[in-house]
Amino acid sequence: MSFGNKILKYKDDILKDLNEILKIPSCAVNTEGENPFGEEAARALNWILNRAKEMGLDIINVDNYAGHAEYGEGEEIAGILTHVDVVPAGDGWSFEPFKLTEKDGKIFGRGVADDKGPAIVALYCLKVLKDENVKTKRKIRAIFGSGEEIGMDDMNRYFSEQPIPDLAFTPDSEYGICNREKGILQFTVFSKDLSDSFIKEFFSGNVINAVPDLAYAKVNCEETQYEKIKGLIDKKDDSYNLEATEEGVKISATGVASHAAWPEKGNNAAVKLIRFLKQSFTQIKFNNLFEFIDSMIGTEIYGESLGIATEDEHSGKLTLNVGKVRVNNNESSVQIDIRYPVTKNGEKIFEKICEEAKNYNLNVELLNHDKPLFVEEKSEIVTILKNSYKEILGKESNIYYTGGGTYARCLNDKGVAFGPVFEGEEARLHNCDENLDLDKFMLHAQICLEAAYNLCKD
Ligand SMILES: [Zn+2]
Repeated sequence: MSFGNKILKYKDDILKDLNEILKIPSCAVNTEGENPFGEEAARALNWILNRAKEMGLDIINVDNYAGHAEYGEGEEIAGILTHVDVVPAGDGWSFEPFKLTEKDGKIFGRGVADDKGPAIVALYCLKVLKDENVKTKRKIRAIFGSGEEIGMDDMNRYFSEQPIPDLAFTPDSEYGICNREKGILQFTVFSKDLSDSFIKEFFSGNVINAVPDLAYAKVNCEETQYEKIKGLIDKKDDSYNLEATEEGVKISATGVASHAAWPEKGNNAAVKLIRFLKQSFTQIKFNNLFEFIDSMIGTEIYGESLGIATEDEHSGKLTLNVGKVRVNNNESSVQIDIRYPVTKNGEKIFEKICEEAKNYNLNVELLNHDKPLFVEEKSEIVTILKNSYKEILGKESNIYYTGGGTYARCLNDKGVAFGPVFEGEEARLHNCDENLDLDKFMLHAQICLEAAYNLCKD
């Protein structure tokens, strides 16, 4: 019998505690003061740390950013990183989002999969190790963040005071093992000359890390131009819409939303509408920002015209997403999100973009740069996780890369993402009816405990 099986007898306790933490609507928000991600996020963090204390584990809370529970002895530290904040519930739920509902073999609730379920499991892994009185060669910490969903400042702060574990994993993704995460560059390109005389307003996108599915432009135009646009739109598909306004017309375009890490799954409404305007009004001079977006990016998602297209064998192609475009009386800007391959240099890519923007008289401001993660497949951490997976499931785990980002990125190539969602599971993360199959959740619990045991046992 594997060690991981020992967690099965804690199933009822795990579900009971999961229900308790789900009841805290810990949607992270940026605030000032003693609760950096809001009162509820701090409440969830303190709740799980108190629960750990009741179990007899040592705990530390780093200023309500993040904290850990610890078991065992040793110089080195192993870590399991999870988070107790969640994204807002949103609409469309079949059940109360902020509690646990069990139905047809599934558990539902905001955070069951991302990432409160895995957080409770990590806590119980430490409890089992303690109850079984396992002798350790290194300490093991269950590290809990409370601001993962809004930029991971929780871990930056935590690791400014606490050591980075020597070996770690974060069950906040999918099985098997994600040992490569692309680099992320996010920046704003902006112009000092504001709204166009022709385009009074342009709006698209609410966040930088998603493909916008809606864009609109308010255009100043006369009767004859109106007829022309109407004619053009009538010839197009129904993803364009035209409305008369007091000053002219409002033209809208719809596309398909997607995460910025997978722009190929979306259809960007912003670049689509800009292209439509440029092609429809060849006589009009557009402002520099529109010229830049249309000429240097257009509908490309791999950065060819910008001269930054690149790829490697480990993590595929660089991808680019136009996330937000704003042109109005106050600003003229576009926000862009780039995911670049793990062996490439982000600074050089950014330099090239600045150069190209300068040619259009535009400025660039860097918002965020997360370096890539690249952990060797033959490393100790990947080997331990592979063996633990195989011990429980009797088959090999796949090793993959992502354009997304997890806490593994904060670990200086000492850790990777691993679980909790299995291939083919529709967990509906960040969506209504977030859920996990209960049997699979308990499989995850066994794999997680097996890995925890293998990481720390003497
Ligand atoms: Zn998460």
